[in-house]
Amino acid sequence: AQERYASIRDKEATTRDGTTIALHMNAGLMADLPSLDSSGAKGVGLFRTELQFLVRNKVPRRDELAALYAKVLDASAGKRVAFRTLDIGSDKVLPYMKPQDEPNPALGWRAIRVGLDKPGVMRMQLQALIRAAAGRDLTVMFPFVAQMEEFIEARTNLLDMCDHEQRMGRPVPETLEVGAMLETPSLAFAPKQFFQMVDFISIGGNDLKQFFFAADRENERVRRRYDTLNVSFLTFLRQIVDRCNECGTAVSFCGEDAGRTVEAVCFAAMGLRTLSMRPASIGPVKHMLRHTDLAEARAVIDKACEEGAQSVRPAVMEWMRSNGW
Ligand code: PEP
Ligand code: MG
Repeated sequence: AQERYASIRDKEATTRDGTTIALHMNAGLMADLPSLDSSGAKGVGLFRTELQFLVRNKVPRRDELAALYAKVLDASAGKRVAFRTLDIGSDKVLPYMKPQDEPNPALGWRAIRVGLDKPGVMRMQLQALIRAAAGRDLTVMFPFVAQMEEFIEARTNLLDMCDHEQRMGRPVPETLEVGAMLETPSLAFAPKQFFQMVDFISIGGNDLKQFFFAADRENERVRRRYDTLNVSFLTFLRQIVDRCNECGTAVSFCGEDAGRTVEAVCFAAMGLRTLSMRPASIGPVKHMLRHTDLAEARAVIDKACEEGAQSVRPAVMEWMRSNGW
């Protein structure tokens, strides 16, 4: 199987009926970067910057971070890297941060909420990113945005930091792309102005699914209870993609489910054209997509939805089996 995937490494993930899906990889440590080449990923769709904070015993210094981000950009050799700003709290607790005594950490003070309320660390991180990307392209995305104003405030911090650097006579990135992760259902219903102002949306399916079904992603008892291919969730994803398309907003999906072959086919059938996943998933997902007729997949899904199925999985699996997969 490994050889089969190696042979398609430089080929496109183009379906039998001619739709190309861009496959990116998720990363977070320097050690992940060699996979960018070996997997054939188009870029890093999600760089989880908190991992660098989690492997240390104190907050890293700005210059240290800038050097690290510069190395990430060097290693990516011009491929796009979407740096997600610090996403801590809930399941990601920094050993050197005062533990928050919260009754429901997943619904608590986390990610962009911390970054906006205590902007010191976020500003330091943004400055490090700007310095690392001086003279090249910088892509930043903010995690866990629940309403438009949070995005505006975070983006203002980033733009202000760029101005500050320029005033100090330092070089700034050549281009700047600023996006939001869509991980809370509320953001799907944000005003159209939000979709028009973001440079891109990245659907964080892990969190989005947990909040959609009100089922803790860390709780073994409930986390597998609701299928990602549940008709309600797929319908929601389709609505998000349609909304983005109407507003001309680039949209991708970067939750773990994108790396599962059946899910990836269904997401493509819902209109997603960019998926980001673990590097090891790129080969199998590409192989599957290249054997898929997307119009047929859509018809199978639509029929299952029409018939009131709870999940489209049985119908899709049956269709795949009948195609000899
Ligand atoms: C997600 O929530 O889907 C996501 C990609 O972010 P994380 O898994 O790091 O929360
Ligand atoms: Mg998340």
